[in-house]
Amino acid sequence: MSAHILDGKALARETTEALRPRIGALRRAPGLAVVLVGDDPASAVYVRNKSQRAAELGMVQRQITLPAHTSEAELLTLVDALNADDAIDGILVQLPLPKGVDKDRVLDRVLPEKDVDGFHPINTGKLWQRRAALVPCTPAGVIELLRRTGVDLRGKDAVVIGRSNIVGKPMVALLEREDCTVTLAHSRTRNLDQVVGRADIVVAAVGVVEMVKGAWIKPGAIVIDVGMNRRADGKLCGDVEYAAAAERASWITPVPGGVGPMTIAMLMANTVFASEQRQ
Ligand code: NDP
Repeated sequence: MSAHILDGKALARETTEALRPRIGALRRAPGLAVVLVGDDPASAVYVRNKSQRAAELGMVQRQITLPAHTSEAELLTLVDALNADDAIDGILVQLPLPKGVDKDRVLDRVLPEKDVDGFHPINTGKLWQRRAALVPCTPAGVIELLRRTGVDLRGKDAVVIGRSNIVGKPMVALLEREDCTVTLAHSRTRNLDQVVGRADIVVAAVGVVEMVKGAWIKPGAIVIDVGMNRRADGKLCGDVEYAAAAERASWITPVPGGVGPMTIAMLMANTVFASEQRQ
C-alpha cells in the first residue's frame, strides 16, 4: 500500500480539543438538543455518540427520544419549543424520520441560527453565496481532512459521487469554495470510471459497498470515502475498494475511522459557533 492514511479519529480529537478554550470563554455553556424519533438502531448509535461528545466538552446536552408513532404535529411542537429555549443553541433532528412525517417540513422549522446540521434552505443558500453560515457537518469534515494532507487544493479536479442534500451537493459548494474544479456524479453519470480517473480528489458518498474500484483511481489522487455500509458479514465498509485504491492514491480515508469521527467533530464546532453567535 502506498497511500498515506488520513486518520479521522486523530483529527477529530484535535478539532474538538481546540474548541475547549472557545467554550470556556462563553458566558454559558453551549446547549445542544438531539432529537431521535423511532428505534432505528444505527440512528440510536449516532445520537449516543453525538450526545456523549457534547457532554465530554461540557456542553448542555439534551437528548429527546420519541416513539416511532410520533406525529408530525408533535414533532413540530417540540422543534418550536427548542427554538424558543434560550439554553439551546443547536438543534439536531436525527434522520431518517418515520414514514408519514415530512422531513423537509420538520427541518425547515428549525431556526436557521440553531440549525447545527446546516440543512436549512437559508443555510444552504448562504453556503452557495460564500456567506458565513452553519455548514453540513460531513462535507465540512471532509474539507478539514483534505486540508490535513497539506496539498494545495486550488485548481485541482475534484469529483463528488452522490448528490444528496446532506453530503454530495454541499460538498460541491465547499470544494468550489476551495477553488477546485468540481464534477458532480450520480447514478445517471456515464463512464464513471473515466470521470473518476481524471480526478485529483475523489469524494465518494453513494452508499454502495465498494462500488468505486481501485483501478479507477488516478495515481496520486486523494480519496475520501464517506460511505458507511455493512457487508453481508456485518462488517462496516465504505464506497471505495479500499486496498486496491490505497495502492494508487496518495492519501485515503479508512472506513471506519475516517469521515465518521469528523462529522461529529464538525457538529461540535457548529454548536460552539452557533452559541458564540447567539451569545
Ligand atoms: P443518498 O442515498 O441520499 O444518496 C446517494 C447518492 O448516490 C445519490 O445521489 C445517488 O444518485 C448516488 N448513486 C447511487 N448509486 C450510484 C451509482 N451506482 N453510481 C453513481 N452514483 C450513485 O446517500 P447519502 O448522501 O445520505 O449517504 C451516502 C453514503 O454516505 C451512505 O453510505 C451513508 O451511510 C454515508 N454517510 C456517512 C456519513 C458519515 O458521517 N460518515 C454521514 C452521512 C452519510 P441519484 O441521485 O441519481 O439517485
